Amino acid sequence: MNTKKWLTLGLTVALAGCLGWAVAACAPTEPNPNEGDNPGINNPDDPNNPDNPGEGDVTPDADRDTREFWVTGAGAGDLSTCSWTALKPDFKLTKEPKKDADGYTLYTIQFKIYAGGDSFKIRQDEKDANGALVWTDGTYFGIDEVRNASGTFIDAGTKNIGVATGKDGVYKFTVHTKPSPAPWKDNYVTWELVESVTPPSTTEDMYIVGKLAAYPKNDWPGYGKIEDCIHMTFDGDKTWSATITVKTNDQFKVYNKLNQQYYPDQGGNLTRPSDAPEGLFEVTWVSGATTPTVKHVHNYVKWGYDDTHHWKACDFDNAEQEGSRAEHDFKGGDTCECGYVSGKDAEWKIEGGELVEYTGDYVNLKIPADLEVFPDFGTLFGMGENNKYEPAKCEPKNVAKVQSVTIAPGNEHFKIENNAVLSMDGTVLYMYLPYSTETEVTFENVTEIANSAFIFNATVTTANFPKVKTVGKYAFYGTTALEHADLPLAETIGNCVFSTSSVQTVDLSSAKTIGYELFINSKLQSVELESVVTLGRSAFSGCKELTTVVFGANLTELGGYEFYDNTALTSITVKATNPPTATSVFLIAPAASATLKVYVPTDSVDAYKAAAGWSKLASFIEAIAE
Ligand SMILES: [Zn+2]
Ligand SMILES: [Zn+2]
Repeated sequence: MNTKKWLTLGLTVALAGCLGWAVAACAPTEPNPNEGDNPGINNPDDPNNPDNPGEGDVTPDADRDTREFWVTGAGAGDLSTCSWTALKPDFKLTKEPKKDADGYTLYTIQFKIYAGGDSFKIRQDEKDANGALVWTDGTYFGIDEVRNASGTFIDAGTKNIGVATGKDGVYKFTVHTKPSPAPWKDNYVTWELVESVTPPSTTEDMYIVGKLAAYPKNDWPGYGKIEDCIHMTFDGDKTWSATITVKTNDQFKVYNKLNQQYYPDQGGNLTRPSDAPEGLFEVTWVSGATTPTVKHVHNYVKWGYDDTHHWKACDFDNAEQEGSRAEHDFKGGDTCECGYVSGKDAEWKIEGGELVEYTGDYVNLKIPADLEVFPDFGTLFGMGENNKYEPAKCEPKNVAKVQSVTIAPGNEHFKIENNAVLSMDGTVLYMYLPYSTETEVTFENVTEIANSAFIFNATVTTANFPKVKTVGKYAFYGTTALEHADLPLAETIGNCVFSTSSVQTVDLSSAKTIGYELFINSKLQSVELESVVTLGRSAFSGCKELTTVVFGANLTELGGYEFYDNTALTSITVKATNPPTATSVFLIAPAASATLKVYVPTDSVDAYKAAAGWSKLASFIEAIAE
């Protein structure tokens, strides 16, 4: 006969619509609640289960009035805060002050049950030194039998107890226990429905439970409150999900609070996938699936950047967010929101939009975002103060060092196109890239060549500028490969434009105003300046290969020292009727003078021979041949 001395209440109330619920008493333990010697794991109603704490004979306690009764178990409703393995204060039965009419001592407790899957026991405690229940046969006080609401005794060891009303609700349980001594079988439990509650609207209410370092309060049910665990979001159809931080040693499961089912149920816990770094993961469980998925979630909070762009990168794997790459936006300053500082490596000191000092090594020129006025590259490459040409400071070797020129994002003034730094509208050429390998260059839209734009260029042999009106000083200074420059519309020519260059021929047929030292010490062979009005001093000095020069009819002024050491010079033609002023000494190298001819208009021959400056050339002056 029945000799069991404990109470097992395995409620199997059929909840309308939830007939498929299994009684799954799965209390967790670490790390896998479904493995090991766990009181909740096995069917508590199985009398042959050796793990069942109620099995076997027990020694009755001598004085039950001094004992305590507790509920242990798991489930939805109030049982979600209960535990199979630890005594919870809320689940201690209260000893009533009065005994019942039969002299039985009464212990009561009241809690809410969702009958479909909840399971629990009422037990007399036996605790070890640490206060934990000890699941060892013989240490438990048991109640042999319980009776149903009709008062009928039911064998608790082999059958589940049915709550006659079949309703979810708040129940009051009363343990009737007879003082020592036996018969134990006279002890029993009664219960009554105190208040019906509305059943859960879904059979699923999913949580992530387990050990997660980032969530100290998250725990297996039984160790902590399920409310403290991570509640998953239901999509209204079949899928539950939550995005959580998962660390390396974390172990967890997806848990259905309503029927205490774990996913995965057996055989291991969910962990951080080994192919993903610690960080955010999306845990997804699809209704009916046995195993949830754990997928790395990119956490795009970290800025990545290079000189031209920034982007958002994943905190954990450095993955670049799709579509996030954008140009830096400096918003008026030189620091972008991503942390990139414009020109920080280029060593350009900018004040008021102008370069005041360059301290870099010339190798990688990074034009800063806040540069508004392009520097004279003579200054940049070592010209003296105020761009005065100081040979000791002007360093062709600095030009040769340049390997790259870039413009910081956010600079709205300049662009690089056709191997040159241009104004944004493409009309001003500020700097031809020294490292370009092009030999013949044409700039169709450029109307102005800025100072020093091609200075010391060693590659370009032919330069075509069909629309240029203005040429800045030193524009082609020191070029070593240039043979021909085509500037047919250029009217204003700065100082030293072709000085010390290798240029042999030029088209300057529209040039009106020309600065000093235009071709000094160059390899110029011949030139026709048909439109020139004023020509600065020393234009052809030192041009040892120069043979012929033609000035147009509009020439009014020469700066002086135009022809010095021109050993090959044979012909100067001046079409101006009135001799241009030539206030300085008009020097002609003695070696040239023997073969030199100076041609002037027929009617002006005498005037030239008498004019200041020209009179020294009187013996060479002849009329232009008709
Ligand atoms: Zn990522
Ligand atoms: Zn940026």
